[in-house]
Amino acid sequence: MNIKELRKLKVGKVIENVCMSKNTTYRAGGICKLMVLPRNKECLIKLIKYLKNKNIEYKIIGNGSNLLFSDNIYNGVLIRLDKIDNYKIEDTIIKAEAGCDLLTIAYKSADAGLTGLEFATGIPGTIGGAIYMNAGAYKSDMGYVVSEVEVLTPELEVSTLYNKDLDFHYRSSFLQKNKDYICLEATIVLKKGNKKVIKDIIAERRKKRLMTQPLNFPSAGSVFRNPPDDFAGRLIEECNLKGYKIGDAMVSEKHANFIVNIGKATGKDIHDLILYVKSEVYKKFKIDLLIEQEFVNWE
Ligand SMILES: Cc1cc2nc3c(=O)[nH]c(=O)nc-3n(C[C@H](O)[C@H](O)[C@H](O)COP(=O)(O)OP(=O)(O)OC[C@H]3O[C@@H](n4cnc5c(N)ncnc54)[C@H](O)[C@@H]3O)c2cc1C
Repeated sequence: MNIKELRKLKVGKVIENVCMSKNTTYRAGGICKLMVLPRNKECLIKLIKYLKNKNIEYKIIGNGSNLLFSDNIYNGVLIRLDKIDNYKIEDTIIKAEAGCDLLTIAYKSADAGLTGLEFATGIPGTIGGAIYMNAGAYKSDMGYVVSEVEVLTPELEVSTLYNKDLDFHYRSSFLQKNKDYICLEATIVLKKGNKKVIKDIIAERRKKRLMTQPLNFPSAGSVFRNPPDDFAGRLIEECNLKGYKIGDAMVSEKHANFIVNIGKATGKDIHDLILYVKSEVYKKFKIDLLIEQEFVNWE
């Protein structure tokens, strides 16, 4: 790939040899040859046009809070949307660009006395990543609050997908099934609420998360989706896997559906542990747990 040509595009910062351990919440994985941080939506579109034209592999990442990279070199271009993070709150409507931090948007909504995004105050993703995953908690998710999303289509047109088009289901969305679409901006519609009540709910949930989740270690949140009418954590715990380790990857003692990096876990340590847990649960319960996290750059 021609780095000089990429820099000549002037779409934003181009960084070489980036450690994925610094770009994922697992703090693990190999090196990415090139990362670009487009300055704004227009620069992102220009960059995608260029990469598609040249047939260069690329991947968008948000905060890397749902990703497990292999320890191999990623030869494509990773595109982080950190700079595409403008947002505005008007009355009960929030327009937020894809790179906005979901936590920031959720706390700003609470400050504005808006209710509906309390569920998101423990989810360390971006708006784009949260819509792609239909991130959620406490029986709510992005599908309840997102009214429309501005996307870049595979044909490189800017278009609008409405809530019904986005096909939101439990940790699933249209974007996940159509990986060639890019979320550029979302419109979130909330309701007016009582600021104190909203902040109390957020504080209560934060307390609960701190008590039940291993937030003092790097992880990528829940490893497996909950099977219907059950909890992946319960099944893993019943297999006596809490504390089980491969290298520096460990099934959390606090929450069995979290795998934590207790030191210098490699991507392979985490990957092997995920597959081991999955096979042990299958052996005991004949339940095939679905992995919620995404493996990137594995054979
Ligand atoms: C401590 C912790 C707690 C968590 N708790 C929860 C929880 O309660 N509920 C929950 O649902 N999740 C939770 N997660 C998981 C994670 O935060 C979510 O899945 C989040 O939505 C991922 O967002 P991200 O920006 O980090 O996306 P990434 O992990 O960077 O990417 C995820 C996918 O989204 C795609 N993507 C990102 N941006 C775009 C875009 N603009 N357009 C198209 N595709 C895009 C990427 O290509 C990738 O395929 C938790 C994670 C951690 C570390």
